[in-house]
Amino acid sequence: MTLDTMTLETAYLSLDSEFYAMSTPEPLDEPYLISFNPKAAELIGLDTDTATDPRFVALLNCTFVPKGTRPFSMCYAGHQFGHFAGRLGDGRAMNLGSINGWHLQTKGSGETLYARMADGRAALPSSIREYLMSEAMFHLGIPTTRALGIIGSQTKIIRSPIERAAIVMRLSPSWVRFGTFQYFHYFKEYDKLKSLTEYVITESYPHLQHDEDRYFKFFCEVVDRTATLIAQWQGVGFIHGVMNTDNMSIAGLTLDYGPYAMLDDFQYGFVSNKSDRAGRYSYAEQPNVSYWNLTMLSQALSTLIDKQKMQQKLDDYGAFIYPDAYTLVMCKKMGLFRRLEEDKELIEALLRALQDAYVDYTIFFRTLCRYDGERSPLYDIAMNPVAIHNWLNLYDERLSKETHTQIQRQEAMLKTNPKYVLKNYMLQDAITLAKRGDFTLVETLLYLAAHPYDELPEFEHFAKETPEEHKNITFSCSS
Ligand code: AMP
Ligand code: MG
Repeated sequence: MTLDTMTLETAYLSLDSEFYAMSTPEPLDEPYLISFNPKAAELIGLDTDTATDPRFVALLNCTFVPKGTRPFSMCYAGHQFGHFAGRLGDGRAMNLGSINGWHLQTKGSGETLYARMADGRAALPSSIREYLMSEAMFHLGIPTTRALGIIGSQTKIIRSPIERAAIVMRLSPSWVRFGTFQYFHYFKEYDKLKSLTEYVITESYPHLQHDEDRYFKFFCEVVDRTATLIAQWQGVGFIHGVMNTDNMSIAGLTLDYGPYAMLDDFQYGFVSNKSDRAGRYSYAEQPNVSYWNLTMLSQALSTLIDKQKMQQKLDDYGAFIYPDAYTLVMCKKMGLFRRLEEDKELIEALLRALQDAYVDYTIFFRTLCRYDGERSPLYDIAMNPVAIHNWLNLYDERLSKETHTQIQRQEAMLKTNPKYVLKNYMLQDAITLAKRGDFTLVETLLYLAAHPYDELPEFEHFAKETPEEHKNITFSCSS
């Protein structure tokens, strides 16, 4: 498919007009291509040589309009930092339409009905961050939205400091958020809440469409998908940074990349969002927050689904659905094929050891992949090897109860524990260069993002410990 033959559909517009607002994109000045993502192009069947078609920049800038395009922004509400914020909505995102089950959305193409005094723009740094990290998460096997490309421009936007505006074209099977349900619940639009639920079931849970008990089962599956998602975040060391209910995907995807981080040294309480003084969205809190957010979703669904049944499911989430999902992720990371009662304690001991050891989370697991009883490689990467030593005693004992061979364990672990993750300092370097018109590091990081488990000798430096002065960088939301 070329840009000429690309035809979009807009099923969301068949919902009541309160669900969205039609939007008019305001193109950026002197737009230029920063990056085209061929892997995302494949998803929608777009020819990869579109990268060199000048109309690709125009597509992202909304001056080239594919057939069927009807730009609209979605209405939603949400709890921000624990407080209900009323109507939010896509303040700077516009949906153009969908193709192959992927909804195309531009982020930063101007004010919408929901812009609330803000400018509808997205700065170059945060756009590059979203573009690269969504790709990295996908290749780490974590459910996420994707991105087709990114453009920069000469349009100045007021940030501190002044930035240039960019646009990322994001793709997702669903842009519906917990907050979309909250909007219709809080404004007592129960018929619309029901239409939304039917819409989401058809789009994201189609196997439930003809089930009599589909609303409750839908809720259960959202809970299950959220458990898997958050367990994977914890496993890979991803901190989202703004787990407000408007940033929680009803389809269980990682959504809205803002002040996120990958752990440098393991720090259980690490907070990546500079504005989050209370640490509500710290790494350690993500599982609790996901439970809280699901509780808010259950309240929003309380006119449709029996509250007690939902509460039971939430109780199960806390008691075993999330803990089991997390244990599974961590056992895989440790190369354990069997599931034993004692594994939860082994994981808890590991987290304590990592905290005490001052060791890079990613490097620790990658080094553990090659563990054969010789401990020095693991001691070498920790500031405090004693903590690692004590834990390895437990690990050795646990490994003795496995039936798989060491080689099998090592092979499985190397496919589970990434060598390359995108740390914030790498992204900062890519942004600094991009501001000077050099996009080579964006391309390199896009490549690394797609090869997290490979040994890439030419990129060995990206697998090293984060330089001390660049550890634990934090970000603010306003970008
Ligand atoms: P976020 O924290 O980026 O998910 O954004 C929270 C809310 O603020 C959403 O409703 C966004 O659409 C909106 N928002 C953030 N930045 C802007 C902006 N520059 N212009 C308009 N709306 C924005
Ligand atoms: Mg958001």
